[in-house]
Amino acid sequence: MGVWECKVCGKSVVSRYELLKHCKLKQQVKLQQQSDDIELKRDCILKSLCAYLNEDSNTDIKEYLSANFEDAKSAIAQTTVGLSVMLKEGADEDEQPEDVGVVIEGVELLNNLRSISCGVIMLFGLIYALNLSYPSELKFTFEFFQKVLMNLDGKKTVSEGSNT
Ligand SMILES: [Zn+2]
Repeated sequence: MGVWECKVCGKSVVSRYELLKHCKLKQQVKLQQQSDDIELKRDCILKSLCAYLNEDSNTDIKEYLSANFEDAKSAIAQTTVGLSVMLKEGADEDEQPEDVGVVIEGVELLNNLRSISCGVIMLFGLIYALNLSYPSELKFTFEFFQKVLMNLDGKKTVSEGSNT
């Protein structure tokens, strides 16, 4: 049985990976409960969904410090599909980002979006309209949006691969 135990709640899981996932989910749930900000609650639920589906949201939703704007710009230029999230230096984890943008092929197509979840909605729409592949580390999350939330069951599925 479980060899890895959560020091906070005592839950036992079978691997280190499962323990990290458990802690990530707990952290988002806690943050969500502490806040009255609906945008932040949505972002927490989105990150929880990614963690639940074993996807690392930090790969395609990249956070930058707005003070390091030049570094952010060159990283954005190398992003194929994803979000750029600008954070104020020293901001609390329950503080909204300064800016959220949608990046496609190294270009920030949209910015001034008010939250990560808003950015993800815009990105989902653009991917659908431009017939692009889903970001590699969010493909199950996006497939959840497509099939469960939007009830769109077209050609584009993860299981068929991105080349079809
Ligand atoms: Zn725990």
